[in-house]
Amino acid sequence: LIQLYQPLNFLGFVYRELKQGLVDMEQMFSLLRTQQEITDRADAKTLAPRGAPVAVEFADVRFGYNQDREILHGIAFRAEPGRKIALVGPTGSGKSTISRLLFRFYDVSEGAVLVDGIDVRDLAQQSLRAAIGVVPQDTVLFNDSIRYNIAYGRPGASDAEIEQAAKLAQIHDFIASLPQGYETRVGERGLKLSGGEKQRVAIARTILKDPRIIILDEATSALDTATEQDIGTALRQVARDRTTLVIAHRLSTVIDADDILVLRDGVIVERGTHAALLAAGGVYAAMWAAQSELADAEQTADRLATGP
Ligand code: ADP
Repeated sequence: LIQLYQPLNFLGFVYRELKQGLVDMEQMFSLLRTQQEITDRADAKTLAPRGAPVAVEFADVRFGYNQDREILHGIAFRAEPGRKIALVGPTGSGKSTISRLLFRFYDVSEGAVLVDGIDVRDLAQQSLRAAIGVVPQDTVLFNDSIRYNIAYGRPGASDAEIEQAAKLAQIHDFIASLPQGYETRVGERGLKLSGGEKQRVAIARTILKDPRIIILDEATSALDTATEQDIGTALRQVARDRTTLVIAHRLSTVIDADDILVLRDGVIVERGTHAALLAAGGVYAAMWAAQSELADAEQTADRLATGP
């Protein structure tokens, strides 16, 4: 029964994840700027926001949002500069919490989060956050032009830089095809963009910001296969030469991760490359099998719907 339960449970998590994700942390942070609990030390160091990729390390991190409930029970991993680490696991296992600690929305209760070998508690928050780009699952666009929405990544960027970022994010051709091009208004009161288009705007924004670390809250299966492939190209561009932490919902995009951490209840229960984890035949292998079955079922459903 447990063998049956695991894949079913995993399917449940795939669907639940559709609704939950990281909020746009950068925007949320600016909203909360006035009431932050985290303060800079008087002698805080600064991290250059751009430049060579940096290492990210969690050294035996323990953390709880409140004292009576610990959420992360000793998380340890190291992402070498420019490498990609993927976090997978069911809803509530602690993936988003790990990304929030990297962003230093909260301080750990034990252990340390280190960026470029420096404890994030010793860094000026503003410089840490400037060095991290977040590609959220569901991007909130401003009621303004597409140009503004991309340029938000780096105020003062030139038109040529904005277009270059849009090209790398595979969204330039789409924008150029609109009658008003980059001046097209988007957002609630403007042109409605699809999930894939919005995510590419977010990727362009992040490419323009050019941070040294990327947190990617991967979009879920709301995207069709063709869109997913487009996004894949854009995502590889944004992750290139940057240390990347992916919160993965679809396992297909973690195949190329240098290290996959499988979380359950705030503990890393398995880790390794895709090939090593499949060979190990454990939790990850079961998740992979379940997701492959889901993909097969979807294809069969598509075939039935469209006829032979
Ligand atoms: P995941 O991203 O893997 O779905 P989260 O990191 O969001 O998991 O959540 C891990 C645990 O922390 C869950 O039990 C969740 O209920 C709890 N949690 C998340 N955010 C908060 C918060 N702001 N306050 C209290 N508990 C939280």
